[in-house]
Amino acid sequence: MHELAIAEHLIELIGKHVRESGGQRAVRVTVQLGEMSGVMADALLFCYELAAKSTCADGSELVIDSVPAVIECRSCQARTCPVEFSMLCPECGGSDTELVQGRDLLLREIEVINDV
Ligand SMILES: [Zn+2]
Repeated sequence: MHELAIAEHLIELIGKHVRESGGQRAVRVTVQLGEMSGVMADALLFCYELAAKSTCADGSELVIDSVPAVIECRSCQARTCPVEFSMLCPECGGSDTELVQGRDLLLREIEVINDV
């Protein structure tokens, strides 16, 4: 499952961050999820919980910030939000477009606490 692999990767990064910061566990993790990343937020939340079990992120809250997709047209330079995931430029109808935002999943913030 796609989302599970992503969640496991997130947990790995979080674990590294927690160790490096000298804290004990993560309580809140914020990610930016691009609309065109192909990752389903619900599935990611579910997999995150699974992947976090028995790690320093167990029981932590995953906050997903949705990032809208933006395409840029090379013909007319228009920057627009794609309509229904179409990559055609709504301004000139051209197909020479590039996705400039909304493709990535980024780990933005990790809140770490120390229990003792
Ligand atoms: Zn255009």
